[in-house]
Amino acid sequence: MLAMAIAGHPALLIADEPVAALDAPLQAQILELIDNLRGRFDMAVLLITHNLALAAQICDRVVVMYAGKVAENAPVETIFAAPEHPYTRALLASTPRLGADRLQVIGGSVPDLVNPPAGCRFHPRCPHALGICRKEAPPALQLSEGHLVNCWLAQG
Ligand code: SF4
Repeated sequence: MLAMAIAGHPALLIADEPVAALDAPLQAQILELIDNLRGRFDMAVLLITHNLALAAQICDRVVVMYAGKVAENAPVETIFAAPEHPYTRALLASTPRLGADRLQVIGGSVPDLVNPPAGCRFHPRCPHALGICRKEAPPALQLSEGHLVNCWLAQG
């Protein structure tokens, strides 16, 4: 699949869950191969994944999405060291950890994407939701160089 994808020397390779369902050693091999190809063909790679550890390992920038909308967009170090969006924080908090008594979960359910919630799509599950969150989608606010967050709380 990779050979076919790069046969035309694309400027951008979109890899949607490229190592899902593979065992750990094979995952590492495929990721190393993608990284080598990225350098060799001078192409950008857009990795779509639910695996936060994978994103931390190989991405330069992370765009966190919820229900089809961007929640937060930042350099990978910022996403993991100083997340600002409640969904990003909840995602990181729900990462399984050795020795933890309980697995933290994000309350509520995934929304119906045919008829998504009004306003901020995360509001039915957000513990910090304000009145405006139920009515208007928050605009992107730049918090620092390259760090954008779509949340009414961040608007001050
Ligand atoms: S905009 Fe409101 S509901 Fe959405 S994440 Fe921010 S505080 Fe929560």
